[in-house]
Amino acid sequence: MWIDTHCHLDADEFEPDRQSVADRAWAVGVEAIVIPGYVASRWEHLLEVCRTVTGPRLHVAPGLHPCYIREHQSQHLEQLDSILQSVPCVAVGEIGLDTYLPELKSSEIYQAQQRFFSDQLTLAKAHDLPVILHVRKAHADIFRIVREQNFRHGGVVHAFSGGVEEAKRYFRLGFRLGIGGSLTYAQAKRLHAVVNAMPVEALVIETDAPDIIPAPQRQRGVRRNSPEFLPEVAKALAEAKGVTPETLSRLLAANSRAALRLTVQ
Ligand SMILES: [Zn+2]
Repeated sequence: MWIDTHCHLDADEFEPDRQSVADRAWAVGVEAIVIPGYVASRWEHLLEVCRTVTGPRLHVAPGLHPCYIREHQSQHLEQLDSILQSVPCVAVGEIGLDTYLPELKSSEIYQAQQRFFSDQLTLAKAHDLPVILHVRKAHADIFRIVREQNFRHGGVVHAFSGGVEEAKRYFRLGFRLGIGGSLTYAQAKRLHAVVNAMPVEALVIETDAPDIIPAPQRQRGVRRNSPEFLPEVAKALAEAKGVTPETLSRLLAANSRAALRLTVQ
């Protein structure tokens, strides 16, 4: 039994066969899938997917993704507030900061990212919810804003890309680290160091489908990641930590439940 803590099953890539993907994921033991939001114009569709697709339990984590900063408007925060009020959500996500892409780095754009991140932490606090973080090359500012906001609900740092020190600091602040298909890449040295250094209790797994295809599927020519490949991530993590898949399954389920509000619905 596995929980995919980050999967964009609402994405257009799954439009032709979404229900079959969910059925195949269910058949390989994916019991629950968390679908984070990214832009306000897609929230309705996201909720519709969660209402209609059967098989794994689908959980929603609506939010405004930092990479789509040019599309966000302040009224979207009000819309988010009313969704959080009326729909059972497991987190606010995915939110955070990204300075990896040059077009996201200009001071005006980066200031807007910080404003939307901070405002969404305020909303998460108001609704007593954890958050799903998207962070690339911006850990110091994330720590600063989390501290300024005195945010204590934790959550998941999805597709964790930091080093061991940052991993420890997030875990101390109540966040789990989202480990995905990158762990199956031999060249992902930094991620392997993080996984070796951290206790299993600090980790959760995710696919980030349709992105980040695990190495075995990539070698077979698969072009779209899918929640049905989550067991590949679990297998790589079980090997890295020297635990059986059964033990890992039990520990990760507990971690995922502690990090996100998976008890709703
Ligand atoms: Zn994502």
